[in-house]
This record gives sequence, C-alpha cells and structure tokens, in this order.
Amino acid sequence: MKDQMFIHGDYVGSASGAMFDVVDPSNREVFHRVPRGNGEDIDRAVKAARKAFDDGPWPHMSGSERGAVLRRMGDLIAERRDELARLEVRDNGKPLPEALWDIDDTAGVFHFYADLAERLDNNAEEDIPLGAEGFTSKAVKEPVGVAGAIIPWNFPLLMASWKVAPALAAGCSMVLKPSELTPITALELGDIARKSGLPSGVLNIVTGFGPEAGRALAEHPGVDKLAFTGSVPTGSRIMATAARYIKTVSLELGGKSPLVVFADTPIDEAVAWIMFGIFWNQGEVCSATSRVLIEEAIYEPLMARLVEEARKIEIGHGLEDGVLHGPLVSQSQHEKVLACIEPGKSEARLVTGGGVPKGLEAGCYVEPTIFADMDESAWIWREEIFGPVVCVKPFRTEDEAVRMANDSRFGLGAAVMSADLDRAERVAGAFRAGIVWINCSQPTFTKAPWGGYKQSGVGRELGEWGLNNYLETKQITTFDRSRPWGWYLKNTNG
Ligand code: ADP
Repeated sequence: MKDQMFIHGDYVGSASGAMFDVVDPSNREVFHRVPRGNGEDIDRAVKAARKAFDDGPWPHMSGSERGAVLRRMGDLIAERRDELARLEVRDNGKPLPEALWDIDDTAGVFHFYADLAERLDNNAEEDIPLGAEGFTSKAVKEPVGVAGAIIPWNFPLLMASWKVAPALAAGCSMVLKPSELTPITALELGDIARKSGLPSGVLNIVTGFGPEAGRALAEHPGVDKLAFTGSVPTGSRIMATAARYIKTVSLELGGKSPLVVFADTPIDEAVAWIMFGIFWNQGEVCSATSRVLIEEAIYEPLMARLVEEARKIEIGHGLEDGVLHGPLVSQSQHEKVLACIEPGKSEARLVTGGGVPKGLEAGCYVEPTIFADMDESAWIWREEIFGPVVCVKPFRTEDEAVRMANDSRFGLGAAVMSADLDRAERVAGAFRAGIVWINCSQPTFTKAPWGGYKQSGVGRELGEWGLNNYLETKQITTFDRSRPWGWYLKNTNG
C-alpha cells in the first residue's frame, strides 16, 4: 500500500508532512495512513500537470501512441485484479465479488478508451461544408488542457477510471483527488501509469480532505476543466467555484431514482431487480432505485416477498464467503444513514431492518431497510440517503406512476418493469432521467452515456460522451488566396 502522493512521476510526502488515517469500516480500525495534501500540494501537482501539458509530449502524441499506454494500464490493472479488489474491500467495505466486478470494469474502461484514443487519429478532424465560395473549414478536436478530477468513495478505483481514462485518451494531463475515505487504490494508479509508460506529470494524485485539497483543486486557476462525482451540495460548490475562472465542469451527482413495477411482471423477477437496485454496494450507489412504485394489484404479495428476501441477505465482512452486504464506508456515513432512518419512522412505516445487525456492532453495518406508507411529501421519500434504505408505494394507473416517478428534483436513473414492452417503452420515454432501465435496474455499460437530468448533474460520462468531456473543438477556416479577396470584404461590409 502506498503511503505517499504521486506528483510528477514520483511518490512524495505532503508539503506539511501531515498524514491522515485510513479506516477499515468492518471494525473501525485504522489500517493505513496517507498524506493530508493541502493547497501547496495541489499547487505542486497542478504545476506538474500544466508543464506536462504545455511542454508535451503527451497532448501531441498520436492517438495510437496514447492508446497503447492506456491499454497497458488496463492490462496491469487486470493483472492485479485480486489484490486491488481486496484493497477495495478493506477500504470501502463492499463484498469481494462486487469489488472484483469493479476492478474488471476498471480494466475495461481503460481498454475502451484506449480504442477511442486510437480512433482519434482518424476522426479528430471533420470537414465542415460551408457552401461559401472560396472558403473551406474544418472542426478539430483537441485536449481541453489540465483536468481536475474529484471522486467519491463508493466505487473508488472505478470512479477514478471514468475520469482518468478518457482524460488521458483525449491528451489531457490531470490531477486526481480521491475521496479521503477511500484513497488506497487510486494511489496505485501512479505506479500503474509509470510502468505503462505515461510521461511524468501527466497524471498526478493528491490525497486529502475535500474542504482542503478538493477545494484547492477546484479553485486553482491552472486547471481548465473540473470533473466531479459526489453529493449535490459539494457539486453545487464546485460549479460555483468553476464559474470564477469559467472552467468547464462535468458533474455526476445524487439521485432518488424510481423503479416502477407493473402487475404483469413476474414476482420473482421484480423481487430480484428491486433488491439489486437498492441493496447492492450497501445502497451506496448514486443511481440506486431507492423509490419503488408497485401497481396495486401485486403490491401486497410483492411486498411480502421483498421483506422475506431482504431479511435473508447475508450481512458480514466483505471477504467472507456468501456475504452480499458489507459495512457502510465509514463511521460518518453509518451515523448519517441511521440518522435518516430514525425520523423516517415517524413519517412512514418501518417494514423491516432499520438497525445495526446483531453481533456486527463493531463495524459500520446497517440492515437492509424497507419503508412503506409514506406521503409523497415525506422527507424519506424525497431525499437521497445513500444507504440500504428503500421506500415503497403503490400506484393505480400508468399516468399516476409516471407523475410520482418524475416528481423529484433529481433525474439520474429511472426503471420500469412490465411484460408489455410497448408500455415499458412509453414509460421510459416519459421519465425525466438520464439513465433509464427497462426490466432491470443498475446494469452499467462502459459504451453507454451516464449522467443525470435536473439536479443530478451536468454532462455525460462513459462512451464517446466521456471522451468529449475532455476535448475542445477548434474551428479552422481557410480562404483560398487565389480568389479575389476583396469581394468578401466588400460584400459583407456593404
Ligand atoms: P460525501 O459527503 O458523501 O463524502 P462529497 O460530495 O462531499 O460526498 O465527496 C465527494 C468528493 O468531493 C470527495 O473526494 C471529497 O473529498 C470531495 N469534496 C468534499 N468537499 C469538497 C469541496 N468543498 N471542494 C472540493 N471537493 C470536495
């Protein structure tokens, strides 16, 4: 495990020498310490990134050359699959099979953007048919410059890859600030980048707290673009900070995503996706379908099955066989989620869960929790909890379901289940959300766009959209000098 930050190709300590604790949420014990980076460290990292961008060679290399580096990074991540997944379990708490998915996905993201980098060699320029005599024009894609990436703790290395891989593919240099709750795997990326031949200074990684290192990164005038995933209040602060220097921002924020289940859905299928939609990764998922709307005819039997299955979920240490539900990421998150559940009991009926599982008090565990019978105005129905807590309500008609689903300030995910595909498509079309699932909830694919409507964010990650976040578009227009140049000035100026 690395105990230094990664700046200009070297592992270094923080300028102040200060460190902070990294805690295992399964037992609340400190298992590591990493540097507590501050504004000075961020400045050093941004200057390294700036120099790597301004002096090259990275932004001027061909897409295939950059792609080769990204492909090696993906290969090295895949080679260290088991070790990285186990670090993720220790740092974040998630069950090992889910951590293994994360690492596989992370390697896949690097491989995907390696392909897109290669493709840039052929599609970075596009001729624009102006239809104006004597003029030709083209649009050229270029890297946006120095990117600042601030990432959350729920999928530590995967969230890093969603920003690092497309930024590097585009030819940007960057500074990555992992969450203070889960800094371990991101720090390994420095080593992986170095071994893959990434030039010094292109990727810099500074560990530290949000209000110190994160804020300094958002404020730094040497950063051209900010990419953030996290909570709405922090996203809003980052957007306001970015406004000062007119930095471009992409924000992937929270949600309270609905899952609408029509009565023609087989109960087993509905139960499986509802449970996965809210309880995987302990519900610490921005797109979790935490509001479930069930058509009245199957509300009672489906609810009974849900309760039965939620109680069967094996809770425990992420490395134990058969465990589906680990601890929440930290003591503060544990306290926050329990503090949301408590008042929920007075505005809704607690159907199951709601407490700390017996025998697991030493860790940050919370039982899978189901609430019912709340009003639509209830806090617990409207606000994101970011834990294993789902609110369930019945509905009568399709129109009512769509209205209730869309009645939210968020618009990240939305899901619909029905045997009638025409109806499902109609509802999918009516959802005001950036990611819509039909007959499933949560499957995520590197090639497809990811991001939210309304207060759930700005811009899209993954796929081509993710790459475009890190590209500027330049217009180059040429006048044919063999033509009489005076006519244009004469004609346009009258
Ligand atoms: P949470 O409250 O669940 O930790 P945040 O949105 O605060 O979610 O955290 C996501 C990321 O944002 C983390 O890397 C965190 O350090 C960072 N962060 C928190 N506050 C700020 C801030 N004021 N400026 C920049 N980054 C911040």
